[in-house]
Amino acid sequence: MSVKKMILDVDTGVDDTMAITYAVADPEVELIGVLSSYGNIDAQRASDNALKVLHLLHADNVPVFIGETDPLDHKYQRIAINAQIHGENGIGDVELTETETSAESQNGVDFLIESAKKYGKDLTVVATGPMTNIAAAIKKDHDAMKMVGNITIMGGALTVPGNVTPVAEANIEQDPVAANEMFTSDLEITMVGLDVTLRTLLTKKETKQWRETNTEAGEKMADIVDFYIDVYDDIYPELGGCSLHDPLAVGVAIDPSFVDYLHMNIMVTTEHDAYYARTIGDKARLNDPETNVNVAVTVDKERYLKVFMDNFLTLFNKLK
Ligand code: CA
Repeated sequence: MSVKKMILDVDTGVDDTMAITYAVADPEVELIGVLSSYGNIDAQRASDNALKVLHLLHADNVPVFIGETDPLDHKYQRIAINAQIHGENGIGDVELTETETSAESQNGVDFLIESAKKYGKDLTVVATGPMTNIAAAIKKDHDAMKMVGNITIMGGALTVPGNVTPVAEANIEQDPVAANEMFTSDLEITMVGLDVTLRTLLTKKETKQWRETNTEAGEKMADIVDFYIDVYDDIYPELGGCSLHDPLAVGVAIDPSFVDYLHMNIMVTTEHDAYYARTIGDKARLNDPETNVNVAVTVDKERYLKVFMDNFLTLFNKLK
């Protein structure tokens, strides 16, 4: 088994917390860095949250970098609204132990480019916040980013409605300009959007198993995610659980066979009209023989949830 080097680009966030945990736990991955972005919360607090989550998981050795702090399209950020979903502090209003470790001084985008040059095809990048850091890295050093083996994002909605507007998914809507630059570049992108993440659910039956490990990590993680499950019960009572948006993207980056794909060219609507931030087929490239986006459209949720739970429980039990 070859171990993949992974960088996570997060806006920590409850489901980002699960994405970090999945990456720390999965034996097929070496998490070489976490990039924090604005989104669910501002970039500084997203970085603080990532540091605390890594500390909770005894993974303080993973460096955290702060990336872009504002969207390329400077209209606004949705942080206030996201507080209802992720809590005022971004992690379900659960207090985690402060850590001595602080974020690295190197800019996150530069770390991403440096790692792309160093590891090339052996590097996997998973973005579970706005696409601003990836777009900035492509702009700064396209050739380095072109060498990255796997770029998987949580974002977009192709075959289902959006979660911010009828057409817009939250990560894309934070910075549609950046997302459009990424999708319309020649980089190969795997898009794990609402098409699959709204079908991949977690309930308190699973978080109870984390508590039963009688570990601080298991209990705190259950507190954080139970907050999110309660929010989902209010907002999406029809789902019967919370969506595993961000950790599904990590899972698919490691094992692409969890999902089936449409291979196509995607664009994002950047005009400020009713279709703002929609992910849709790029009319200008409809007939191109080459496609650069693998859009996940169906998911083997039973198999994914099993691996997800095995990873989490194995990690928590190791931290006893
Ligand atoms: Ca996120």
